[in-house]
Amino acid sequence: MRKARRPEAQPDPTLTRAEAALLEAFEAEARREEAATAATVAELELWERSGGGEEGEAVRCPVCARRRLVFSRGVVLCSCGGLRLDLAAEGGTLARVREALAEAWQVHAAACRAEPAFQQRAAPGGGEHLWLTCQHCSAFAAVL
Ligand SMILES: [Zn+2]
Ligand SMILES: [Zn+2]
Repeated sequence: MRKARRPEAQPDPTLTRAEAALLEAFEAEARREEAATAATVAELELWERSGGGEEGEAVRCPVCARRRLVFSRGVVLCSCGGLRLDLAAEGGTLARVREALAEAWQVHAAACRAEPAFQQRAAPGGGEHLWLTCQHCSAFAAVL
């Protein structure tokens, strides 16, 4: 078998059999990757709908206030795309996330009656964190 040349390096538009096979293999690989990504998303959505794990464990995403947070391998994330934090290093759990959110909410609610907002941002010292912010009382506190 001849050594396959890269298709783009081939001046003749007619591909050799080896090149065509190689190209086909590349395309099949790309399709497999696409299918794998779609499967992961579908799995995530199914898991989300089922309650995100154990009964009573569901935590609503503070960023979009609509979807449920998903916790997988130390990473807490929401399919809204507004929240994705790696808590593996600090041994984070969904229960811990819920506690931190509830605590931040209570601390703010004790001082201010406005609805706070939550957003993920990089901290000045580096690393991503979830912040509680409020335009009414100018609160700005790290939650996670
Ligand atoms: Zn969300
Ligand atoms: Zn406030």
